[in-house]
Amino acid sequence: MGVRLVLASANPHKAAEMAALLATSGFDLVPRPPGVPEVEETGATLEDNARLKAEALVAATGEAAVADDTGLEVAALGGAPGVRSARYAGPGASYADNVARLLQAMDGVALDQRQARFRTVALALFPDGREVAAEGVVDGQIAMSPRGEGGFGYDAVFVPAGGDGRTFAEMTAAEKNAVSHRGRAFRALAAGLHIPAAGTPAVPE
Ligand code: IMP
Repeated sequence: MGVRLVLASANPHKAAEMAALLATSGFDLVPRPPGVPEVEETGATLEDNARLKAEALVAATGEAAVADDTGLEVAALGGAPGVRSARYAGPGASYADNVARLLQAMDGVALDQRQARFRTVALALFPDGREVAAEGVVDGQIAMSPRGEGGFGYDAVFVPAGGDGRTFAEMTAAEKNAVSHRGRAFRALAAGLHIPAAGTPAVPE
C-alpha cells in the first residue's frame, strides 16, 4: 500500500486528474470524507489557498492531506483572473460564465497578444505540521473562441504552447496531464516527497 494522503478537492474533474497523476507515485489517495466542508478560498496567493484547504482537512481527519490551487494568468489582463479564477465572473459563477467573461475582456485583443499561463501550487501537509509544496506552470494563449468538449474550467479556451494548436479541451486526459500545470505540479510534489518504495514518507526537514 502507498502513503495515505487525503485529497482536499471535492471537484470530480480535479480529483480524477490528481488520482491519475499520483497513482504511480506511491500514494494512496483517499477522497475527502463526506461532512468535511469545502474551505473558503480567502488566501492572497495560490499557495495560501492550497495551505488553507490542506489545513482544514488535516484538522478534520488527523491524516496527511494534499491540496492544490490553480490560477489562469493572462498577460493582456495584467495577470487576471489569477487567484480569482474560480469566481472571475462573480460569486457562484459557472465555468461557462467565467469563460464568457474572459472572452469579453479579451475582445479586440489580437492573437499574438493573447499570452497566458496556468499556474498550480500543490501542497502536502502532515499532521505534525511539516509541509511540502511544488509549483507547475504551462504557458500558452487564449483562443478566440471555445473549442473542444473535454476537460473543465477554462480548458476550451487555453491553447498550450509547443503543441499542435489544440485547446486542452480537445486533448485526451493523458495528453493534457503530460504538459499541464497540474501535471507538472504533482510530479514535482511527488519528487519533493521522496516517497521510498516501502511507502514511508521521508519529508525534507
Ligand atoms: P481551483 O481553485 O484550484 O479549483 O481553480 C480555480 C479555477 O481555475 C477553477 O474554478 C477553474 O475554473 C480553473 N481551473 C483550474 N484548473 C484548471 C484546468 O486544469 N483547466 C482549466 N481551468 C482550470
